[in-house]
Order: sequence, then structure tokens, then C-alpha cells
Amino acid sequence: MPGRFANKVAIITGSSNGIGRETALLFAKEGAKVTVTGRNPERLQASKKALLDAGIPESNFLIVAADITTSSGQDELIGQTLDKFGKLNILVNNAGASIKDPQNRIGISQSLETYEQTMKINVESVIGMTQKTRPHLAKTKGDIVNVSSIVAVPAGWSLLAYYPMAKAALDQYTRSAAIDLIAEGIRVNTVNPGIVRTGFHESEFGWSAEEAKKFYDDMGANRSSIPVGFAGRPEHIAKAIAFLADRDSSEYIIGQNIVADGGTTMVLGIHANVLNSLNSS
Ligand code: NDP
Repeated sequence: MPGRFANKVAIITGSSNGIGRETALLFAKEGAKVTVTGRNPERLQASKKALLDAGIPESNFLIVAADITTSSGQDELIGQTLDKFGKLNILVNNAGASIKDPQNRIGISQSLETYEQTMKINVESVIGMTQKTRPHLAKTKGDIVNVSSIVAVPAGWSLLAYYPMAKAALDQYTRSAAIDLIAEGIRVNTVNPGIVRTGFHESEFGWSAEEAKKFYDDMGANRSSIPVGFAGRPEHIAKAIAFLADRDSSEYIIGQNIVADGGTTMVLGIHANVLNSLNSS
């Protein structure tokens, strides 16, 4: 039976790891031809292996090593995709990172350079990719899904001030882009993940894999942090991305955010205190 992405071509940025890799896998299993991308060659090889292990033929995917924050990297990604597959139907702007301050400064003491790098990967690369793919997506009446974060919600994040600012900017950009582009038949929406087991927190805090695992286990064990009782897995987010990328499922949804966080943003401090006292009584 043809999958829901049969005859579709998708670029998924940040698909050398985590959420992006799982999204590429899901799309490919459901019939899409996918471009997988990132900078790290070993991680790209691991994504290639995951696709081959899932029975996806090499003719259905393309691996492009590129830095998405550079204009030449973006051109390479789009150019190679069009050369191999001839069109573009779906763009998933998933690559993102919370940049570690070189001197380990936290909060609003982080350097302006850290701020600039954070905006470059989380916002400017999305603007560049959206502008450059626009004519190709207009031809196919295509779909864009941006990957933001729950850190974009209106709450203060004292530890890392700039990453939440970047994701909040991305959410607002999504709404503006959605209005502009729907006139050309292109839909734009966003998924905002909560805490998900990927390489993200290892890069963010310079943690080892064991330290990251402990963080996810501890967070998941604390229902006042994650009410559903476990940290998310990449497939939870991939499924939400697929829903928004699939026009049959979500045609009438324009410029919206789906929060996939196991309930984290439902819990205010006051609720957490009540949950904690119930748990301890
Ligand atoms: P990972 O660190 O596992 O993956 C990040 C991906 O982005 C990698 O494929 C990485 O590729 C790519 N990337 C980073 N910088 C660049 C760059 N300059 N050029 C090209 N590719 C780049 O993290 P996640 O899978 O968790 O992150 C995916 C998205 O989800 C991000 O936008 C993140 O902000 C968001 N998110 C994640 C959460 C979580 O808890 N995990 C929570 C909320 C949001 P490479 O290293 O090969 O360059």
C-alpha cells in the first residue's frame, strides 16, 4: 500500500541525529524521498545505516553534508535535492541548538557572540531555507514544518536566555511566513517539543551520554516536570511533524503550533507544589 508521503520529496534539516533522523526514517517508511543532512560525517553515516536497515533503497534518499547556517550550505542542500529528485514538496526546518557559551557563562551574562550563533542556527537558517525553497514549494503547493521548543512559551528561562529568545522569534516568524506563503499554496506550521532523548542536551551542557541519560530519567520520574511520567522519544515528535507535513491530515491548519511535551507546559509552579505534596503524602 503506498504510504501517505508517496511521490513526495522532503528535506529534513538536522537529520544526522535525534528528532530529524527519526523524522527522515518515518517519512521514508511512508513513501517519501528524503534528503538527510547535518555536518557530522559519522552521524550522517549512522542515519544512512538506519535508513538502509529499515529497508529504504538508496534511490529514495540523499545524504548531504552541509552547514545550514551558511548560504552556500543551504544552496548545496536544495540544489542536490532538486538534481536527484527533481522537485521539493516538504521542508522540515528541524536543525537547531542551544549554543554552549565558550566561557561557561550562564543566563544574561552569556556573550553577544553566543547570542549571534544561537540566532544563526535557530532563526536565520530557517529564514534562508524558507526564502530559497519558496519558488520550489510554490510549484508543488508544498508544506513547511518548523521545529521550535516549549522554551518559546511566555515564561522566563534564567539559565540560558538566548535559546528561548531564538525559539520565540522562530514561532513569530512561522506565523508571519504562514500568512505570506499560504497565498502561494504553501502551508507553514510548527511543532514545539518538550524534553526529548536526543543528543541535544549533551551538546547544550557538554554532558556525557550517561549524564544526559540521568537527566532524562530524573525528569521523567518527576511528574511535576513531565506529567506523562517519561521523557519524550524522537518518534513522538516525528509523528507530530508528519501530521503537519501531510496535507490530507492537516490541510486546514495554518501557522499553528503543536506542543508535544508530555504535559510539561501544563504545569505551573503552583501545580508542581500541589503534585509534590500529593506524591509525598
Ligand atoms: P540533536 O542534537 O540530537 O540534533 C540536532 C541536529 O541539528 C543534528 O542533526 C545536527 O547535525 C544539526 N545541526 C546543528 N547545527 C547545525 C548546523 N550548523 N548545520 C547543520 N546541521 C546542524 O538535537 P534534537 O534532535 O533534539 O534537535 C532537533 C530540534 O529539536 C532542534 O531544533 C531543537 O532545538 C529542538 N528541540 C529539542 C528538544 C530536546 O529536548 N531534545 C526540546 C525542544 C526542542 P550535526 O551535528 O551533524 O551538524
